[in-house]
Amino acid sequence: MKKRILILGAGFGGMELSTMLSEAFGDAIEVTLIDKNDSFYFGFSKLDVMFGRAQPNAVLLPYKKFVKPGVRLLQETISLIDPVAKRVTTDRGTHEADFLVIALGADYDFAKTPGMAEATEFYTLEGATRLGEILPSFSKGRVLIAVGGAPFKCPPAPSEAALMMHDYLSTRGVRSACEITLILPLEVPVPPSPETSRALLAAFAERNITFVGDREMRSVDTQRREVTLDDGRVFPYDLFLGVPAIHAPKMLEVSGMTENGYVPVKPRTLETCFPDVYAIGDCARQGTPKAGVFAEGAARAVAKALIARLRNEEVPVTHAGTGVCFIEFGAGRIGQVEVDFFSNPDGPTGTYHEPSVALRAGKEHFSASRRARWFGL
Ligand SMILES: Cc1cc2nc3c(=O)[nH]c(=O)nc-3n(C[C@H](O)[C@H](O)[C@H](O)COP(=O)(O)OP(=O)(O)OC[C@H]3O[C@@H](n4cnc5c(N)ncnc54)[C@H](O)[C@@H]3O)c2cc1C
Repeated sequence: MKKRILILGAGFGGMELSTMLSEAFGDAIEVTLIDKNDSFYFGFSKLDVMFGRAQPNAVLLPYKKFVKPGVRLLQETISLIDPVAKRVTTDRGTHEADFLVIALGADYDFAKTPGMAEATEFYTLEGATRLGEILPSFSKGRVLIAVGGAPFKCPPAPSEAALMMHDYLSTRGVRSACEITLILPLEVPVPPSPETSRALLAAFAERNITFVGDREMRSVDTQRREVTLDDGRVFPYDLFLGVPAIHAPKMLEVSGMTENGYVPVKPRTLETCFPDVYAIGDCARQGTPKAGVFAEGAARAVAKALIARLRNEEVPVTHAGTGVCFIEFGAGRIGQVEVDFFSNPDGPTGTYHEPSVALRAGKEHFSASRRARWFGL
């Protein structure tokens, strides 16, 4: 009988994992990939939508284009997981597997920050679209970017938003009538790479962007237009770019799979405490930041382990905890940081590459290569 692998969530992690399994086995195994949505989009597309560089519909990559031998992609909403029986309940029925991989990402926790549910934010496609409609008529006042708590998705994204906002307002000739303040729950913008953080702080200073580090947003008052921080300070705003807190999908908690909000795993192998059940990406505590590149790295490691197990070969331990992040510095320039979370026992390290127009090609290759590999586009 064919081995059955059930992959929950067709995001960065789920798509890379099912692609690698398809490449290794074709239809010699049965891979079922389940997602509640009908399309995927890159997280960074939301910045493009907010700043009017792309239309929301244009960034959607439809799952019907994800066609891989041996992989069935089902559009269903998962409501319960039995990790012992490796049985999954959805709105359409139940699925069972020999191996189960949870790749369900993280959900936004709007309730954690009072007022956040009504506030403007750029971390959902709807929120970025709404801000994209508001921005053209914003020509003076205080822009405030603040985060509901750590961890949050893609730690460099709020810094990128601040620098891109500077460019956007400058291009429209209204920058001198505006203030930009960025508040992060991190001491510096990219903690694993002091060099990258220094470069970002210098870029903020050059552009007159105020940076407030190590502070979490406690509440937003959309009537009074002000944000209160965890130290009691109040920041008034005219335009708010919120970043919601996150947690693993509640359904994982109901299924008894989380501890302190996320699925615990062995960081090097991504194994959960349940035999033959793995968890990868933003839903797991895999020892790296919440970002697509790290979800993908974990997917590759699990794919290699499953391929070895199915071939009765020695199982390699390949999750390196490394990733390359591209950072928008404004003025068309992109910086790059290679981060390594596991090699150094004293903590994560990062190698910084100065922003350049040439590195933009690297970011474009990142999305074009995934579009081609996963969607044939
Ligand atoms: C503004 C912004 C910019 C970003 N920029 C970058 C960047 O430049 N580089 C980078 O690497 N990362 C970036 N990210 C982060 C990146 O998008 C996420 O970290 C990444 O998508 C996580 O991958 P994942 O596979 O863990 O989960 P996801 O990609 O979130 O996939 C999870 C999937 O599970 C599905 N799902 C969830 N619950 C259910 C359910 N109950 N039933 C069925 N399906 C379900 C979802 O529909 C989703 O498709 C950015 C994020 C944002 C918001």
